[in-house]
Amino acid sequence: MKQMSVRAVIMLVITSVFVAGLCILCMFYVTDGDDWALYPANTHIFNEGHVSKAGSITDRNGVVLSHSVDGVRKYNDDLLIRKSTLHAVGDLDGFISTGLHTSYLPQLVGFDSINGVYQFSGTGNNIKTTLDSSVCQVALEALGNRAGTVGVYNYKTGEIICMVSTPTYDINSQSDSKKAKDGEYKGVYINRFLSATYTPGSTFKIITAAAGIDTFEDIYDRVYTCKGGVEIDGEWISCMGNHGKTDIKEAVAYSCNAYFSQLAVDIGKDKMMEYAEKAGFNQEFYMDGIKAETSYFNVENTRNIDLAWAGMGQYTNMMNPLQYLTAVGAIANGGVPKKPYMVKSITAQNGLPLRQSIGQNGSRMISKDTADKVAELMSGAVQLSYGSWNFKGLDVCAKSGTAEVGEDKTPHAEFVGFVRNEELPLAFVVVVENGGTGRTVAGGVASKVLAAAKKSLVGE
Ligand SMILES: [Zn+2]
Repeated sequence: MKQMSVRAVIMLVITSVFVAGLCILCMFYVTDGDDWALYPANTHIFNEGHVSKAGSITDRNGVVLSHSVDGVRKYNDDLLIRKSTLHAVGDLDGFISTGLHTSYLPQLVGFDSINGVYQFSGTGNNIKTTLDSSVCQVALEALGNRAGTVGVYNYKTGEIICMVSTPTYDINSQSDSKKAKDGEYKGVYINRFLSATYTPGSTFKIITAAAGIDTFEDIYDRVYTCKGGVEIDGEWISCMGNHGKTDIKEAVAYSCNAYFSQLAVDIGKDKMMEYAEKAGFNQEFYMDGIKAETSYFNVENTRNIDLAWAGMGQYTNMMNPLQYLTAVGAIANGGVPKKPYMVKSITAQNGLPLRQSIGQNGSRMISKDTADKVAELMSGAVQLSYGSWNFKGLDVCAKSGTAEVGEDKTPHAEFVGFVRNEELPLAFVVVVENGGTGRTVAGGVASKVLAAAKKSLVGE
């Protein structure tokens, strides 16, 4: 009897250990199953460590950006399309971590936790993006050999039409790929639209303007004097012009530093923090589940001089292009941002739809009334300063920025804004690193990209 109970105990222990082991295995299968199946040694999907058998990635018009042919991954034949969509599509080694080849690998190869990577066709799922490769191509040409980024999205639906990051390289060229690997193209694997932050410079004045409109009932009658600059806390902030008595309309149009530094001080720290955070600064941003770099704004415990610089987009301000595009889109969309996305649909090889994206609203940034007023100020800037002839046939609202990035360095040229035409509801952000003057350099890029978008989306 005693012997029996000892055996029973041993059996019980062994069974318990077995059951516990099974539970742990199941747990790891659920949490890490995709990592096992998607390990580069899995020859079912990978060839010499590279993605080989996977579904296609296309643009919004069905142009194939990347697909598998006989177990080999191929990119578009056109050099400019390949280079301009590389950061969206991704490389085959996973160096571009935010590219679809990496971030959507399970979906591309058709992995799920029930069937693993087994599919009847064995070729994964197809991803259709919202990108327009013809617009991306023009954006790349417009950026030329300068580092920077161009983002364009539909502020009513959230669809990303253009997302280009430079420097980029030709993935089909072995020597170009080697240069990228050897670090000859600095930061080439970074998608600047998602993973970079920039000093917003004067483009931030639209956020300060929104805070000013909501803080002062008499905002349009409020006048600050510009003497080619202004003194705050005993320090001189210089202006690009000598604007004299300036109201908010002139201040936005001519980007008066004296006006905005005094306005920011009068608005105060708390309200400036509130409006920056409503616009997405210090908040986490995602696109298709991919986390963007977080924008930064902090004027707590600062002196007036720092608050003044912050109100003009300098001081410690940093904006991420995806976040800032969303904020600008919110102004265009009556104060409510549409969340940007690039993955339009995922479809199995047999045509079965697995995912269809729809535009989602973010939380309200500003009231409709304030948004419309800021839009009007930005429209004034185009008419009085940037030149509406640069945006033929389009009602463009914009703000330029020439962001100081340190002494002896050419500033970043920036241009943000949107189109108010019903048939082309696009918002845009352009950054040309060390490009010089925002309105001419980045504005010039925006002009070309919007003309291409109009041609492709409206057909004229
Ligand atoms: Zn001024």
